[in-house]
Amino acid sequence: MSLAELETSGVRPSLVGLTRAGLADALASIGVPEREIRMRVNQLWHWIYFQGVSDFDRMTNVAKALRAKLSEHFSLARPEVVAEQVSSDGTRKWLIRLAPTGKDKPAEIECVYIPESDRGTLCVSSQVGCTLTCTFCHTGTQKLVRNLTSQEIVQQLVVARDRIGDFPGLTAPTDGLLPSGEGVRAVSNIVFMGMGEPLYNFDNVRDAIGVMSDGDGLSLSKRRITVSTSGVVPQIPTLGEEAGTMLAISLHAVRDDLRNTLVPLNKKYNIRDLLEACRNYPGLSNARRITFEYVMLKGVNDSPAEARELVRLLKGIPAKINLIPFNPWPGTKYECSDWDVIEKFSDIVFNAGYASPVRTPRGRDILAACGQLKSETEKVRARARLMMEAEEQAQG
Ligand code: SF4
Repeated sequence: MSLAELETSGVRPSLVGLTRAGLADALASIGVPEREIRMRVNQLWHWIYFQGVSDFDRMTNVAKALRAKLSEHFSLARPEVVAEQVSSDGTRKWLIRLAPTGKDKPAEIECVYIPESDRGTLCVSSQVGCTLTCTFCHTGTQKLVRNLTSQEIVQQLVVARDRIGDFPGLTAPTDGLLPSGEGVRAVSNIVFMGMGEPLYNFDNVRDAIGVMSDGDGLSLSKRRITVSTSGVVPQIPTLGEEAGTMLAISLHAVRDDLRNTLVPLNKKYNIRDLLEACRNYPGLSNARRITFEYVMLKGVNDSPAEARELVRLLKGIPAKINLIPFNPWPGTKYECSDWDVIEKFSDIVFNAGYASPVRTPRGRDILAACGQLKSETEKVRARARLMMEAEEQAQG
C-alpha cells in the first residue's frame, strides 16, 4: 500500500525504517516547505535511529506544531512481535508480523539474535519465504510470498534493539546472555542469512544497508554487515560496488552435480562462474575475506577428498570457511555429519592455511539455527503437507 492509500485506509504509516529520501517524501506530503526538508530529515533521523524514540513528543527540538502534524499523519510504530523465544544459550528468535500491505493476510518473518561475549549478531530476512529450493534448507520449503521492502528490513534491526534494550533509556532484559565489555554494542553485526535470497531483492537490501550503516543513526560498520548469497552471480559485483558489504557464499558442495541438487541455482550459475565472481569481488583483500559456508551433511559432502577439493577450488581467493553442522528440521532427509568426520574435514582445511571455524549450532532448542527459519503458519502448513504425504504413501 502506498503512503496515500494507507492514509485513506485510516492506518497511519510508520516512519520507522524509511530511508532519508522516504522521510523527505513523507515530510513533503504533509506540506513541509522544500527549504526545511533537509534539516527536518536530519532531526527525524536522529530521533528515530539514534535515540530510538517511539513517540513524536520526545522530539524536543522539533516545533510543537510540526510534531502534532506528524502524529496526525504518521506513526513511529514497529511491526508487532507475535512471539519471542529465548534459547538456553541466549539466542533470541522473534516472529514478526509485518504491517498489512493490501487485502492479503499480514506476512510473518523470523529474525534471530545471536549473542556472544564480545559481539551480538542479528540475522535478518530479506524475503518472506524463498523461491530457491535448497534441499537442506527449511525456509526453502516455504513458497515465496513477497520481497521485503527496505523499510521492513530496517525495522528488524529496530525491533531487535528495542527488545534487547539497546536504545538510550531502555532496559536490557535479564533472561539471557548479552555481549558485555567496554564499547561492545549489543547488536554489532548483521548477517543477511535469514529467510530469502538477498540478491533477488537487491535494491531493497542495498537501501536498507544504507540506513543501517548511516553514521548519524544506527551506525553499523559495513565491514560488520555480511550479505549471504546462494550464488546469484550477475548481482555479486553490483553488491560490492553499490553496498560495499562483506560477502558470504552458501557453497556446500565442490562438484556441480552435487551442488545442482543441494543448491539448485547452481544449474544456472555453476561453481566456476561463482568463484570467478568471488575472485573479482570489489574491495576483496586479506583483511576483507569472503566467507564460504559449507553445511556438513552426513555421507553427502563430508569426505576428506571433498575437503581437499574445497581447498583447491578456493586457491587465490582471500577466504574464510565456515563449516556448519547441519541442523535437522522436521521432514528433512539429511543428517548431520559425525563429529569426528567434521574434525577431519576441518583439519584438512585448517592445514591448508584457512581459518575453518566449525560454527557452534545456536538456538537449536528454539529452531532458530541456520536453515531453520520459517514462520509458524508455514510450519503448520508444512506439517499438514507431510501428514498428507504420509497418508498418501500409506494408501498407495
Ligand atoms: S538456503 Fe537461502 S537461498 Fe537456499 S532455500 Fe534457504 S533461504 Fe533460500
